[in-house]
Amino acid sequence: MSRRKLIAGNWKMNGSLTANQALVQALLVGVGQQPACDVVVCPPALYLAQLRQLLTASAPIALGAQDVSQHAGGAFTGDVSAAMLNEFGVRYVIVGHSERRQYQGETDLQVAAKAARALEAGLTPIVCVGETLQEREAGLTEFIVRRQLSAVMHVNAARAHGIVLAYEPVWAIGTGKTATPDQAQAVHAALRAQLGAAGEQAAGVRILYGGSMNAANAADLLAQPDIDGGLIGGAALKAPDFLKILAACD
Ligand code: PEP
Repeated sequence: MSRRKLIAGNWKMNGSLTANQALVQALLVGVGQQPACDVVVCPPALYLAQLRQLLTASAPIALGAQDVSQHAGGAFTGDVSAAMLNEFGVRYVIVGHSERRQYQGETDLQVAAKAARALEAGLTPIVCVGETLQEREAGLTEFIVRRQLSAVMHVNAARAHGIVLAYEPVWAIGTGKTATPDQAQAVHAALRAQLGAAGEQAAGVRILYGGSMNAANAADLLAQPDIDGGLIGGAALKAPDFLKILAACD
């Protein structure tokens, strides 16, 4: 089955009105009208309204958010709901990023609930899974990522085919240490098998790699049979680097 590649930029807590405008404009010029892959940028929530103005409905770059509430609405101070994101033209939302699991203590169950809220609102959750260095060294990589994915699939059984999955080894995020293409492919193949057990549609879920993907290593990673794109942090903040990663999808 051929799966169109997807490259998503996670801007994390970076940016400003001025810097965002310059970055989006440079990306729009560089991407052209028909990119070889789907392209998404995920700014901090406060800037979604700004990017919605810069990226019209027909723009070749879709809008994503970095997080969503696990609740549909109500007394949850500081949270942003999936319906609110939808109203601002957001199409994708990252859930379960390792920085949120680590610093906000998000559990597998909360991540699964966030994916559910996103799917109900018509958004595509980009569900992040990944092991720490300690877990990898203890031979637990597959166990950890399978457990994280299972929680999401269990809660979203009928809709699991609507997600995008991102394998992000925690030891590779923001460290400059990338999983080798073979290491990444091995985990992606295990995740693909797990998705496949839920049916043909789920087997077609796109699995992105994330963790220090950059202009130099993107082509080798994207050439692997089960790597369907990338979730990019640092390199998404520099238009030339992000554009080179997009070009590696050709
Ligand atoms: C990320 O934050 O999802 C990420 C992959 O970051 P970086 O590319 O900087 O490692």
